[in-house]
Amino acid sequence: RTDASVVDRDRLAAAHHRETERFVADHPACAELARRGRAHMPLGVPMSWMAKWPGGFPVHVAEATGAHFTCADGHEHVDLCLGDTGAMVGHSPAATVRAVRDQVARGITTMLPTADAAVVAEELTRRFGTGSPAVDQWQFTLTATDANRHVIRYARQVTGRARVAVIDFCYHGSVDETFATLDDQGRVVARRGNIGAPVDPALTTAVVPFNDLAALERELATGTVAAVLLEPAMTNIGIVLPDAGYHTALREMTRRHGALLVIDETHTLCAGPGGCTRAWGLDPDVVVVGKTIGGGIPSAAFGMTSELSERVVTSVGLEDIDVGGVGGTLAGNALSLAAMRATLTQVLTDDVFGRMDELAVAWTDGVQGVLDAHRLPWHVTRLGCRAEYAFSPEPPHDGAAAAAADDFELQQYLHLQALNRRILLTPFHNMALMSPATSHADVDAHTAAFEEAAHDLLG
Ligand code: PMP
Repeated sequence: RTDASVVDRDRLAAAHHRETERFVADHPACAELARRGRAHMPLGVPMSWMAKWPGGFPVHVAEATGAHFTCADGHEHVDLCLGDTGAMVGHSPAATVRAVRDQVARGITTMLPTADAAVVAEELTRRFGTGSPAVDQWQFTLTATDANRHVIRYARQVTGRARVAVIDFCYHGSVDETFATLDDQGRVVARRGNIGAPVDPALTTAVVPFNDLAALERELATGTVAAVLLEPAMTNIGIVLPDAGYHTALREMTRRHGALLVIDETHTLCAGPGGCTRAWGLDPDVVVVGKTIGGGIPSAAFGMTSELSERVVTSVGLEDIDVGGVGGTLAGNALSLAAMRATLTQVLTDDVFGRMDELAVAWTDGVQGVLDAHRLPWHVTRLGCRAEYAFSPEPPHDGAAAAAADDFELQQYLHLQALNRRILLTPFHNMALMSPATSHADVDAHTAAFEEAAHDLLG
């Protein structure tokens, strides 16, 4: 709690109380929907994550378009969460809606490919196939979680090795192997909240701090690591950027030790049309993308090099291809591919990133201005069209340092305070995402709310 200690806890509790009263008074219709939901859904929500919002009950959405949504009480909000990247292209972009409407009337799922599949695979290759050898062979799933799960299976299959190396405090979806962390003696243990862990994670997982090449070298030298799975910059514990040279060394090391390098671009697609892979000239064996590539229609993909893809295909017989732990009946379905084709070729095109970045710069400058004016010892970091503030003076160098700066109480207050000013921030983070539909007025609304919060907290 060190750097959040500038905030008096009694003052924080009083401010939070005021905001809660305001929230309840403002949302009678949402409260009623929540009450009804509680009759037949645990915590009253269709998925437990949706219960984690501050205020006592979640805002229920009546309609979402572009960078805004209207709640059941009729209040219009600026959405800086954008479905935690699922709607980074903005809600219901016109081209995606058109393509989805067309396809929905022409067959949704058949377990057969449509003409859209090859187009999307070509486009993903254009974006992410910048390495040598290039990632140019794609498979489709409905979630990035599934894409990661499948990649891990393939990596074990072709290397014959048992463990996956991940970064301490990473997040890659609900993937068993990744819910591990290091205890204070550097041992691999289940991460806090690891629900019904299947086996001791030390059996499946090596954990290394981000930016720690020596730790990674030690793990790879055991010869038991099938793949290193990481985000090119951490985005799920705040933003943690890589040191200069980190990715080059990581690539060299994984090659030398025969481990696959898997770059998960699900969130870091914020860095540009081909994520960090293209922006920074990375050279992975596998790229994972998901969430927003279908404009919110369940869609994800993983791309492999041709060489890896051949090893996979020859090691898995056709006869067993449907019972081996990879795939799903609805994966690669016609609707999902139609949504990806439209979103990638007409909505999230190369040219929209410049403006999205510019908005994120404005958001970052706005937050920094408030931090400076109130001498708050916090920092704000940006990666492309994503930005986030955190409660430590210096940007963290690894996940553990980022986690140490967390302050759940303070965060819950700030999110509720913003919500009461009709601004939605990403839950579990202090993150804002810019879409092609976001405006400078949306950004300014956040800056004003943040200024008011700083004033309320510090006087
Ligand atoms: N990879 C990363 C980097 C993520 O942040 C997430 C979700 N936050 C996932 C994968 C999983 O995505 P999904 O929950 O859509 O499966």
